Amino acid sequence: MINLLKGKIALVTGGSRGIGGAISAELARNGAKVLVNYCNSEKYATKLLTEINKNGGEALIFKADVSETSQVSQLMDKITRTWGGLDILVNCAGIMKDNYIEDITLEEWEKVINVNLNGMFLCSKAAIPLIKARGGGRIINISSQAAFTGSLKHVHYTTTKAGMLGFTYSLAKELGQYNITVNVVSPGRILTDMIESRKDGREEEWIVNTPLGRLGKPEEVANSVVFLASDKASYITGANLNVNGGILMG
Ligand code: NAD
Repeated sequence: MINLLKGKIALVTGGSRGIGGAISAELARNGAKVLVNYCNSEKYATKLLTEINKNGGEALIFKADVSETSQVSQLMDKITRTWGGLDILVNCAGIMKDNYIEDITLEEWEKVINVNLNGMFLCSKAAIPLIKARGGGRIINISSQAAFTGSLKHVHYTTTKAGMLGFTYSLAKELGQYNITVNVVSPGRILTDMIESRKDGREEEWIVNTPLGRLGKPEEVANSVVFLASDKASYITGANLNVNGGILMG
């Protein structure tokens, strides 16, 4: 156990598997108490909880759909009743659908907006009073390299990921006075279910176009989140951190 985040209380939305799962595990490994939010993946959440406990960490799992106001309220109540507050919010819950614009129904468009953008808005809005009450803290949003490059058949997804950047920068301005930093991490192609199901016939091209010559691991995104959550990032706010193997630079 490394104690970079000892005494801190964290919430990771979509925190049971993939990138979110690695973030939950890494925050816990660094001493934070972690509320792992999940929506459907109870099996993954339970497995992760066992793993965190086995490694000497402290965590809770809680089912909530981040796009539903009442469920976000319950999520915040749970963390307040259990641990008395919140220091770190990681907005990681996200969905991706594949369709050309002419085939995207309004329903599909709204579903992606609801989870990826409304979820971040609702969780941030509900978490801010708790973080303020602790004298400051961190909000870290998980966007995507696709917000910068665009992505075929993903106008809805990339719209939300680009929206997360604007949200982060404006919120960083608003919350600096409360000692709350707000940053965004933009992963490239990271090996999770989201990418696994889309990689057939494309993996080689992806690797060739990545200067580091491989896809990323969820832990590599999680490490950047731990850094931003820690005191080591105390003067960083309104920043975008690319974790993409060099696909997109700057
Ligand atoms: P994933 O599909 O494994 O994880 C997504 C998580 O979000 C799941 O745990 C899912 O249950 C949760 N979720 C979905 N809808 C939810 C809801 N309504 N309420 C609460 N939780 C919900 O995919 P991942 O690759 O681990 O993606 C995690 C985040 O990283 C996403 O925001 C994604 O856009 C982003 N991202 C992923 C990649 C990649 O290459 N894998 C690249 C860039 C950005």
